[in-house]
Amino acid sequence: MNEINIDTPLAIKVRKQITRALSEYHMIAPNDKIMVGVSGGKDSTILTILLKEIQKKAPMNFDFEAVMLDQKQPGFDARAFKAFMADQQIKLTVLEEDTYSIVKEKTAVGATYCSLCSRLRRGILYNYAHQNNFTKIALGHHRDDMIQTFMLNIFYSGKLGSMPPKLYSNDHRNIVIRPLAFVAEADIIELAALWGFPIIPCNLCGSQEGLKRVKMKTILDQLEKEIPDIRRSMANALGNIELSHMLDKNLFDFNSELRPTKTVGISESPA
Ligand code: SF4
Repeated sequence: MNEINIDTPLAIKVRKQITRALSEYHMIAPNDKIMVGVSGGKDSTILTILLKEIQKKAPMNFDFEAVMLDQKQPGFDARAFKAFMADQQIKLTVLEEDTYSIVKEKTAVGATYCSLCSRLRRGILYNYAHQNNFTKIALGHHRDDMIQTFMLNIFYSGKLGSMPPKLYSNDHRNIVIRPLAFVAEADIIELAALWGFPIIPCNLCGSQEGLKRVKMKTILDQLEKEIPDIRRSMANALGNIELSHMLDKNLFDFNSELRPTKTVGISESPA
């Protein structure tokens, strides 16, 4: 493992983007107790490291802890990751629940596990947050996750929607925040390589290859060759919606005077 130097230009850039998202979307309130859902991957790990730095200089007090779920996938080994988090002085709780067996049993042959897997994981983590009086749940989704979710919803579900930076969850018990909303995946990959911390591989379930999300990333990579700024432009579009130029009859009464009839509802995003 390399030294975790939080003063490299890239780390400073990412930290500033997190701080901007926290501020613009009012993600943290005084005395919040935040549960950071960590997977052992690069995104949520970088979030915890930089959130610790932000906490030191924040104008308000807040606490956070990392919580991970061991879903009993074959080969899952959190020992090195646990030691790393202890080294960073970040409190980590590892919950154990064998969702892997359930997902394998309930998923049809050839289908991907992700939908059921992430639903079960979300339920367990949300319950834990509620039962342990956390006021917010921070997740490690970044800008590219949001863009890809947007594409998935258009291409496969016939709706416009992404992952909101701040969300009152569907179970009405938790507030979810996504502090990496402005951070590009490419920067996270580069920073993770620079810091070289231990990562728990995300392909233990064997389902990774079939993910539609991978397809969205490939499409974006191809388009980026012709439209270099496409990711930034799409991310900007998510915060710059011209509602009156859409076709949604639930938002505008096209039979009468064209006045908004209700505000946009926000629903839970797919994993
Ligand atoms: S990639 Fe594997 S661990 Fe991740 S959501 Fe899909 S099934 Fe679950």
